[in-house]
Amino acid sequence: MSKEKNELPSSSAGKMEKIVSLCKRRGFVFPGSEIYGGLANSWDFGPLGVELKNNIKNVWWKRFVQQRDDMVGIDASLIMNTKVWENSGHLKEFSDPLVECDKCKRRFRADHIDSDYEKNKKFNKNIKCPDCKGNLSEPRQFNLMLKTFIGPAEEKANVAYFRPETAQAMFVDFKNVLNTTRRKLPFGIAQIGKAFRNEVTPGNFIFRTREFEQMEIEYFIPKPMEDNEWQSVFNYWQKEMWSWCTENLGLKKENLGECECEAQNRAHYSKKTIDIEYNYPFGKSELYGLAYRTDFDLKNHFPDSPYEDAEAKEKFYPHVIEPTFGVDRSVLAVLLDAYTEEKDRVVLKIKPSLAPYKIAVFPLLRNKPELVKKAKEIFDVLKMNYMCEFDDNGNIGKRYRRQDEIGTPYCVTVDFDSLNDKAVTVRDRDTMKQERIAISELAKYFEEKLKN
Ligand SMILES: [Zn+2]
Repeated sequence: MSKEKNELPSSSAGKMEKIVSLCKRRGFVFPGSEIYGGLANSWDFGPLGVELKNNIKNVWWKRFVQQRDDMVGIDASLIMNTKVWENSGHLKEFSDPLVECDKCKRRFRADHIDSDYEKNKKFNKNIKCPDCKGNLSEPRQFNLMLKTFIGPAEEKANVAYFRPETAQAMFVDFKNVLNTTRRKLPFGIAQIGKAFRNEVTPGNFIFRTREFEQMEIEYFIPKPMEDNEWQSVFNYWQKEMWSWCTENLGLKKENLGECECEAQNRAHYSKKTIDIEYNYPFGKSELYGLAYRTDFDLKNHFPDSPYEDAEAKEKFYPHVIEPTFGVDRSVLAVLLDAYTEEKDRVVLKIKPSLAPYKIAVFPLLRNKPELVKKAKEIFDVLKMNYMCEFDDNGNIGKRYRRQDEIGTPYCVTVDFDSLNDKAVTVRDRDTMKQERIAISELAKYFEEKLKN
């Protein structure tokens, strides 16, 4: 087992620590296998985290699959035939250069601790181990795929790999999708699922982990005759990704940026890559990626092109623009962006469509059966349409603070007046304004408020 701990570098302390602590305290994200001392860089999504994550995935699927007529989805196996990785180039190319410390035996990415490594194609021998100042070895290539064995015998013939990206399934299944959906170019195949990378330097909470989830699109276009033909599709997806960040995730524009990857940093399959970046507390870094994969992958998997243009009766390999969205990074960016400290409260100003709970229902006092009964009735109706929470713990002020901290947009309180006027108090998370709403109008009220 590795020696790493779930530690944050001191530079990112502060806001990151607050988020990690809030996540644990309120049930968004727990350290993985915690009762056994944890497993380095593994994290479990708790009751609120899974809601936030599912909401992000559902909004994504709705926008990019359901509401488009040029997109279909798949859900493929995590473990694929090893030939997939031979032909995709991952077995050969998907590796990082590593140096090892002769004293503490830790490994580091050469390009992370020597900023000139890529440029010089040589590791600077004067650089010592960042942890113990020991001597570092020459860089060696280390494959990032997570290996396993299929069947009971641990033999070479049984070696298999957990997929390092969801993308390959969209290429391998391309012909089946084409035959069953009779799509014409341009069209896309989308998938949401887990991927695994045996990262050497994971860290920064859920930013870089060995097991993560992707929302990925392979968008197939006709073979471009000129560069501007793929570039215009690329630009279109770049705009779509920005709009997803600001409209659907509600991220502030000033926290977003983008940067084009230089040729030597691009993945082996990519002709152009742009990273959408987020301003994390530990620095600006990748949130999402957009790549032009050319016809590299389909050519590798199909000796004959599976695509024929029906009118021209011409066979050719479609080209691919690939927008990739990390689910875990989306969660992290949403939490960081929404986290707000006000005078006497912490509030997650998260978009209602993403909030784990939409509505919390309170009886004013827990020891008054008639209030509890009425509140339960309201809760039972609302929960049929929304994730709701029933809370009768502590005083109302404390309950509001708790809901503010987990981003619940609305709180409904049943008080003594409710028994007579058949109305409740609805309190808005962001403005803290309270309105009196008739119980009979509540369903319509929330339908209006939470329609997006
Ligand atoms: Zn060392």
